[in-house]
Amino acid sequence: MPSIFSRIISGELPASVVYRDAHCVAFMDIHPISPGHALVVPRREVLTLAELDKDIYGHLWEVARRVGQAQQQALKSQAQHFLVNDGPGANQTVSHVHLHVIPRYRGDGLRSVWRMISHVGIVALSPPINQRKRQQLDQQAARIADALSAAATQATRSAGS
Ligand code: 5GP
Repeated sequence: MPSIFSRIISGELPASVVYRDAHCVAFMDIHPISPGHALVVPRREVLTLAELDKDIYGHLWEVARRVGQAQQQALKSQAQHFLVNDGPGANQTVSHVHLHVIPRYRGDGLRSVWRMISHVGIVALSPPINQRKRQQLDQQAARIADALSAAATQATRSAGS
């Protein structure tokens, strides 16, 4: 049975997509720890980072870095956490490795690591998302995607000059 993320990547399930390429897809977390919380997911379904090819491993982190920058640009976040629950023993709930990119905002009160850990419980208890919430995720995804495109265009221009 494919993971929920494989089903999103194949288009079978909906998602608010931020970025996609031949190796990975980034989309909004359905139960965000903070506004703009995104997941970077390899197309190939493996459980942990150790099972990824080295090139894909590096690529995922590069995409995560760019998503973090784009969140700052688009959503005016101040910084971000990169988080990996790397295996079920580390509270991984979806059996398909993924990098969380969790924006931090000035004065957001998200100071405690405990809040991040308790997110597992929040996810388990949360109801399915409604249309309004999906629209909100779609809007955030579109803004981050625009910032990613702008950064890519800028990088191409800089390389050409
Ligand atoms: P983990 O605990 O495995 O590191 O994180 C799994 C993440 O996937 C959680 O933050 C949870 O909110 C998110 N998630 C679970 N199901 C879905 C889904 O159907 N769509 C999206 N976009 N995110 C999901």
